[in-house]
Amino acid sequence: MTTENKAAPKKAEKLVAVKGMNDILPASVPRTEKLPDSGLWQWFESCVRGVMGRYGYQYLLTPIVEPTALFVRGLGEVTDIVEKEMYSFVDAMNGDRLTLRPEATAGIVRAMNEHNALYNGPLRLWTIGPMFRHERPQKGRYRQFHQLDVEALGFAGPDVDAEMILMARALWRELGLVEGRDVRLEINSLGEPEERKQHRDALVAYFSQHAATLDEDSQRRLHTNPLRILDSKNPAMQAVIEGAPKLIDFLGEASRAHFDAVKAALDAVGLAYRVNPRLVRGMDYYNLTVFEWVTDQLGSQGTVCGGGRYDGLIAQLGGKPAPAVGFGLGIERLLLLLQELQVKVPDAGADAYAIVPPGTPLPAVVAVLEQLRECGVRVVQHAGGADGPGSMKSQFKKADASGARHALIFGADEIAQGKVAVKSLRDREAAQVLQPLDAVPAWAASLR
Ligand code: ATP
Ligand code: MG
Repeated sequence: MTTENKAAPKKAEKLVAVKGMNDILPASVPRTEKLPDSGLWQWFESCVRGVMGRYGYQYLLTPIVEPTALFVRGLGEVTDIVEKEMYSFVDAMNGDRLTLRPEATAGIVRAMNEHNALYNGPLRLWTIGPMFRHERPQKGRYRQFHQLDVEALGFAGPDVDAEMILMARALWRELGLVEGRDVRLEINSLGEPEERKQHRDALVAYFSQHAATLDEDSQRRLHTNPLRILDSKNPAMQAVIEGAPKLIDFLGEASRAHFDAVKAALDAVGLAYRVNPRLVRGMDYYNLTVFEWVTDQLGSQGTVCGGGRYDGLIAQLGGKPAPAVGFGLGIERLLLLLQELQVKVPDAGADAYAIVPPGTPLPAVVAVLEQLRECGVRVVQHAGGADGPGSMKSQFKKADASGARHALIFGADEIAQGKVAVKSLRDREAAQVLQPLDAVPAWAASLR
C-alpha cells in the first residue's frame, strides 16, 4: 500500500516583478519602494491632455516592440542606448530581430513615414507609454519607465522650438511647479552636421592632447563619438572638459539666427533659461536647438524633460526629408519631484461614502446611488462580506479612510420617511441633514 502525503500542499512560491520594472499602485497599497501612486499619475495624465489640447497636439499610439534596425539606424550605433541599454531579442517564431523601444521618437517617425502622414502637411503629435532601457536601477532610473513624448513634424522654424519649450512650462504651471525654482531650463544649439564636423575635428585634436586625463570610456569615445566625452560625469575629467572647444563658436550665420530667434521668443514671455554649451543629449539625431528641464531635487537623476530638433531623422529612416522637433518627459521622475515638493492632487478622493446599516433594503440604496452618479457625484458604496455589511462603527471607519467628504447614511428610519441622512466627514460640528430620496438631482450638487 502506498502512503499518501496527507500534509497540506506546499504554498506556491510568490512571483515578483522583473528588477527595475515597477507596479504603479493606488496610494492605499503599502509600497516598499518610493514610487509615485496611481492617483498622482492619473492627475498628471489629465493635466497633459488639457495642455496638449490647448496647443493643438493630436494623440497617437505606436507599438512597444519595433525592429531592432529602427533604433540602430535612428539613434546611432555608438550611443549608450544602442551600445548597452536595449532589450533586444530574436523572435523565436520567425527569427526577426526585435527591440523593446528605448524611446518614442524613432517609432513615431517610422509610423509617419510608413503612412505617408506628412503628405498633407505638418503634424503635431503626442503619446504616453512605457520605454525600456537596461540601466542600473536607482531612484529615478528604472528599466521600464514611462515617457510623455511630444513631436512636431514638418516644421522648420524656431517658432515651434519655442512652442515645445513653452508647452512644457504650461504643464509645470498646471501641476503647481514653479519654473526657475523647482525646474530650470537649459538650452543649447548643436548647429548643423557640417558645423558639428568642424567642431568634432577640433575636439579630437584637443582631447588627443589631453589623452592622459581621459578615462577608459572616453579614450574609446575619442575616435567613435568624441562629443559624448563632454557628457561624462567623471569628476576627474571636468577641468579638461571645461577647457574644450565649444560648438557654439563653430556655428554659422543661419544656425545662430535660429538659436537667437528661439531665445527671443522665450525672452518675450519672460521665461528664464541658461545657455549650457555642454548640453549635448544622448541621441545622435539632434541638430540646432536642444533643451533640458532640470531639477536639483532628485540627485543625479535631475533631468525631467529633454528634447530638441532632429531635422535629419525622417529622411535617415527612409522618409521624404522633413524637419522635426520634439521632447521626452520622464513621468516617474517628474512625479517623484511632485512628491518631493508635496504637491497635492486637487480633488482626490470620493465625494461621498454610502453607509448601509444591516437590514437596509439594497434596492432603495442602489437606485439613489445610481442617480447621484448620473449627476456626476463620485460615490463609493459600502460593500459587505458574505455575512452582511458589518457594524456601523466599522463602516464609518471605512468612510473616513476613503477620504470622502460626506457620509450618506441609509438608516431604516430615514428610508421609512423617504429620506437619507447626509453627514460631513470633514466638519464634525456640522449638523446632519435629511435629503429626499425622490428628488436626488435637487441636492446632488451639494455633495460635490
Ligand atoms: P539620463 O541622462 O538621465 O540618462 P537621457 O538623456 O538618457 O537621461 P532621454 O533619452 O532624453 O534621457 O529621455 C527623456 C527623459 O526620460 C529623461 O529626461 C528622463 O526624465 C527620462 N528617463 C530616461 N531614462 C530613464 C530611466 N532609465 N528611468 C526613468 N526615467 C528615464
Ligand atoms: Mg540615459
